[in-house]
Amino acid sequence: MFPFIDLAKINARFDLERAFGAFVQRAQYIQGEESASFEHEFAAYCGSRHCIGVSSGSSALYLILKAYKQLGKLRDEDAIIVPTNTYIASVFAITQNNLTPIFAEPSARDFLLDVSRLESLLTPRVRAIMPVHLYGQLCDMQAINAFAKAHNLLVIEDSAQAHGAYVRDPHTRAGAYGDAGAFSFYPAKNLGALGDGGAITTDDDELALTIRCLANAGSVSKYTHTLDGINARLDSLQALVLRAKLPLLDSDNAHRRAIAELYARSISHSEIILPHFRTSSPHSHVWHLFVIRTKARERLRSYLARNGVQSIIHYPTPVHKQQVYARYNHLELPIAQILQSEILSLPISQVQSFAHTQKIAEILNAFVG
Ligand SMILES: *Cc1c(COP(=O)(O)O)cnc(C)c1O
Repeated sequence: MFPFIDLAKINARFDLERAFGAFVQRAQYIQGEESASFEHEFAAYCGSRHCIGVSSGSSALYLILKAYKQLGKLRDEDAIIVPTNTYIASVFAITQNNLTPIFAEPSARDFLLDVSRLESLLTPRVRAIMPVHLYGQLCDMQAINAFAKAHNLLVIEDSAQAHGAYVRDPHTRAGAYGDAGAFSFYPAKNLGALGDGGAITTDDDELALTIRCLANAGSVSKYTHTLDGINARLDSLQALVLRAKLPLLDSDNAHRRAIAELYARSISHSEIILPHFRTSSPHSHVWHLFVIRTKARERLRSYLARNGVQSIIHYPTPVHKQQVYARYNHLELPIAQILQSEILSLPISQVQSFAHTQKIAEILNAFVG
């Protein structure tokens, strides 16, 4: 009745079938014009010099770190500060490059990397920091960049949930604040493909060239392999879809913001804590997710399900407590662990109606904890 997100409805707004006919005829399925044009347009949109389309957000993160190692800016066992309350791909990129994650606590107020704790995480091996613009809200990039500059650290923005977010100037957006940004175009992201896709943004010419080569089997000209690369290119078909959808991203994000504001005005319950709004910079949050907190999370979740409202937990386990990271399971990050037991994501999307949103708020308000 109230689905979390309706992907078919999101994509039905574009006349994609017609474009597909011409695409099949053109037969330029890998790279080519669509990919190059999308990269151009997305770089301009974010305010970066370069954009490299890749196969997913995970490979975007992985390739940034792999390229920094290739360039000698990161070495085996170097450490990277990363929040533990993120999608696991942020941390996979670190460990799969033989680098060490230093897990950071979020702030309970906005779920984002707590900048006041960064100093205490520094070790001589820390060479980079990976802020994650979680749920669509920009981290405090001014403070993070200042910290990074003072300690000579690279800044890699995990922008997979924050396409288009900016503070004051729309010419500089998520992915253009740090040294490099990683994006995912997973279908449910604010800018989503019809399958997997991702991108990297950067102003660094050398980094861009290295990533492009690494993502293309270590090759810039066919069958000449200069680097130990992988195949992680963005499909031309996905580039075509993303080009069609990019012009609507700002209005889609504006609609998400209006939905979030309506939730905030309409939900009133003593057991529910609403997400933080930075009223002074409304565009710094693109509301990929609308995440409430409640100590009655499990009961609320089944109550919502009984009333036809789909909700999801992003994410049910902090990364340092995941099985794959048994070697970090002993760590205690109490703020992240408490948040993880209280968070719940409500339905939100660029095609969700105000009437539905209002109804979901009424259902929430009628919850008897
Ligand atoms: C979606 C996501 C990723 C990974 O993107 P994929 O395209 O699914 O590989 C990485 N980090 C965060 C924060 C994400 O939300």
